[in-house]
This record gives sequence, structure tokens and C-alpha cells, in this order.
Amino acid sequence: MSRVVVIGGGLAGSEAAWQAARFGVSVTLYEMRPAVQTEAHRTGFLGELVCSNSLRSALPDTAHGLLKQELTMFGSLIMEAARQNSVPAGSALAVDRALFAKYITEAIESNPQIEVIRQECTELSKLSPIDSDGSPIVYVLATGPLTSQSMSNSLAQILGHDSLFFYDAIAPVIDAETIDYSKVFSASRYGKGGDDYINCPMDKECYLTFYDALVSADKVNVRDFEDNKVFEGCMPIEVMASRGIDTPRFGPMKPVGLIDPETGRSPYAVVQLRTENSEKSAFNMVGFQTRIKYPEQQRIFRMIPGLQNAEFLRFGSVHRNTYINSPAHLTTELAIKGHEHILVAGQITGVEGYLESTAMGLFAGITAARKVRGFSFVTPSETTSIGALITYVTTEKTHGDFQPSNINFSLFPPPEVKTKDKSMRRKLIVQRALAEIDGFIKTAYR
Ligand SMILES: Cc1cc2nc3c(=O)[nH]c(=O)nc-3n(C[C@H](O)[C@H](O)[C@H](O)COP(=O)(O)OP(=O)(O)OC[C@H]3O[C@@H](n4cnc5c(N)ncnc54)[C@H](O)[C@@H]3O)c2cc1C
Repeated sequence: MSRVVVIGGGLAGSEAAWQAARFGVSVTLYEMRPAVQTEAHRTGFLGELVCSNSLRSALPDTAHGLLKQELTMFGSLIMEAARQNSVPAGSALAVDRALFAKYITEAIESNPQIEVIRQECTELSKLSPIDSDGSPIVYVLATGPLTSQSMSNSLAQILGHDSLFFYDAIAPVIDAETIDYSKVFSASRYGKGGDDYINCPMDKECYLTFYDALVSADKVNVRDFEDNKVFEGCMPIEVMASRGIDTPRFGPMKPVGLIDPETGRSPYAVVQLRTENSEKSAFNMVGFQTRIKYPEQQRIFRMIPGLQNAEFLRFGSVHRNTYINSPAHLTTELAIKGHEHILVAGQITGVEGYLESTAMGLFAGITAARKVRGFSFVTPSETTSIGALITYVTTEKTHGDFQPSNINFSLFPPPEVKTKDKSMRRKLIVQRALAEIDGFIKTAYR
């Protein structure tokens, strides 16, 4: 009998198993806990949340709200568990983490289509696409940001050691519409590359005030397993600042090769913003990966000229995170190129966040089941939030600098109807996505 084997029973793996089972295929789910724990998990429950109990905004016209609506339309187990075990959290959806994980565990363990095996999987290259009875098997690798060491080694052997990353170094991303363009100028260093960058110029006084705020900022506590040793290439901006008052001015804030047309001179320091997408609707702060707490990031980065009203689509972070250079190695099915019987799901694909990981699990579960059943491959349009995430991780839009992303409106193509009203634009994106996903669901579960 055709079978789907899921490796890892976190958010993505549980959702993948649940979705695959809906197709009537038999599913085997391997989870190494409780015998082997990760550095952050504490229980043997499936779908355990490792940190915050918030699944972000539930407002319908936000990117996270849209993702929740789409997942719900698909009959997501994780969304059902969240709604059944929610706790008051204003406009966000937050859960009682123990009840949430227990709900998922019971649902999976009592599903007659799913067999749960508590065992660590260590070897990818030996996974056969054919079962002992000759029927096809498709695997879904969903071992998460804290994938066990032996599985990481096995993955690195298949992909090459420079295609598996172990740290996130994410710089904040800003909504382009919230930049004050009267205070910034567009230019590339030494005029090379046209006006690709937005430059936020600082005079000496502004720099010194900003520097003081950076070094005294409230930072996220580094977890025991996330060693304090930070790679030179992804050093948080505040760590760099702590090395000396001029260190950022010789690093990402260096002004050389840039002339401010307003003054005709090189500024004292500069913060550069680089576009995130071809529509130029979002910009990242170049070299500003950071461990400063989110509210502090907003307060401090709004001190930068031109960013006084900036809205952050994503905040910066640096943390332990195993993920694949997916644009180079995954097909649009989320299969490993050259190993098409192995799909990858969850945070390890290069998405960031509980529900983003769930979404990738949902898609991989459906795809795996369709594959073993011999059905054609179907994928949601990039105008939906699930499709936008798949497109993000499987296409080379990131110009070789692939970094994990959460869901945000910069990942969607602009709506067909042009409008300057931002909230209207978001509404249009949400409406389009919901209409699109409705059609896709009818195709996917045929
Ligand atoms: C420390 C930390 C804190 C985070 N905090 C947040 C947060 O607050 N909010 C947020 O939205 N996101 C957060 N994330 C990011 C991410 O969304 C979550 O980690 C999310 O749980 C990822 O889902 P997943 O299914 O991909 O991985 P996981 O939920 O981690 O599931 C992976 C599963 O695979 C199992 N496994 C690993 N290796 C093997 C193996 N070889 N064989 C069998 N089983 C294996 C693990 O035990 C685990 O159960 C955090 C990540 C980390 C590392």
C-alpha cells in the first residue's frame, strides 16, 4: 500500500501527517522525542511550541491573519488545535501550550491512518522510494530548526556542507511606504549599480545618539545552546557597536563612496536600505541583523533619519536555526533535487515562524499523498500566502543571499487594481488570496 513517511513530529510534521492521511494513504510519523530531546523542547508531545505561545495576529487583513484563514480553509489540524485551546491575547491568537500540544498528539495518535514511531532517523541517503511490497513511498523531512546532529550530517552529505545553514541572521525589513523620502537619498557606493540603495545619512551628533541607544539596548537573552560566539559574517549590529564607537562606521554604516546631494558631502555615517522585491515595496536594513528586543528595535531604528515613522514588516534576529539553501536545492514541490522522493517541510525550508512552518507541512503533506497516489502536482498561486511562502523558498529572488522569512505583504505580487491606500491594497491582496485558495482546495482534494 502506498505510504507517506514523515520525519519529525513538530508543527510541520504533524500537519503533513494529518493532511496526507486525509487522502487515505497510510502514514508513518517518526518523532525522536521523548527519548532524544532537542535543546529547546521539553516534552514528548507532538507539536510542542518551543518559545512564545503566540501564533501572531488574528486580524483578517494582516498577513498572519490571512495565513490563518487559508490554513483553516484547508482543515489544518494545527489551526484547529489553536482555536480549541486559545487563551485571551487581544487581537492575536495565543494558546495554552500544554493543551495545544496534547490536542495535536491525541489527534495524530488516534488517527487510524497514522502510525507514530518514537525513534530518531539518522540517514537520508538510504531512504528507498519503494516499500517492501513494491509500492511507492514519499518522505517528508520536517525535523525543524533544531534538527538532530546525525540528520544534519546526513543532509549536509546530500546537499553539500555550504548549503545547510545553522544560524539565522535576519536584518529588519521596512515597509517602503513608511520611509520619509525627503530625508534619504538613492545611490550605490561609488555610483556603481545606479540608485539601487536608499541611504539614510547621519551627521556626527545623530550618529552618537544612535550609537548610545544601540549599545544600551535591551537584548534578547541568548539561550544556553545558542553559543555567544557570533560568526563574524553575521555579527549583530549591537555586538559590533560594543567593540568601539567607530566600528559600525567602518562596517555596515560606512559612508565612503556616498555623497548626500543635500549637502554635497559624504555623511558622517549612513544606514543603507536594500530592496527586498522587484516591486520595491519593502527594504531591508543592510548589515543590521540584531538581537535587540522587538519593541526596542522599533524605538531605536526610528531614530534613523527617514525612518522616524517606519513600519517593520519583519524585525531582526540572530538565533540557532538549521535551514537549507532551498532556492538552490528544492523543487517547487519542496522535493530535494535529485532525490525527488524526499520532500522537505517546516522551518528547515527557510520559512520563519510557527504557522509558516505549519503551512509548509500542510503543502508537503498534500503533495506527498498526491505523489504516492500518482496524482499530478498542484501548487497554490503565489497570490496566496501559502503559495507566496513556497515561491519565496524555491526561487532565486534573493540573489544568493537566502535568509528565512515570515509571511508578510512584501512576498505577494501587488493587486491588479492600483491604489495608493495601503489598507485597501492589503484588503485586495487578502480577498484575491481567499478566492484563489478556495479554487485550489477544490483541485487539491479531488
Ligand atoms: C529556540 C527557538 C525559539 C523559537 N521561537 C519561536 C516563536 O516564539 N515564535 C515563532 O513563531 N517561531 C519560533 N521559532 C521558529 C519556528 O517557528 C519553530 O521552531 C517551529 O516549531 C518550527 O516548526 P517545525 O515543525 O519546522 O520544527 P519543530 O516544531 O521544531 O519540529 C521538529 C521536530 O522534529 C524532531 N526531530 C528533529 N530531528 C529528528 C530526527 N533526526 N528524527 C526524528 N525526529 C526529529 C524534533 O524533536 C521536533 O519534534 C523558534 C525556533 C527556535 C529554535
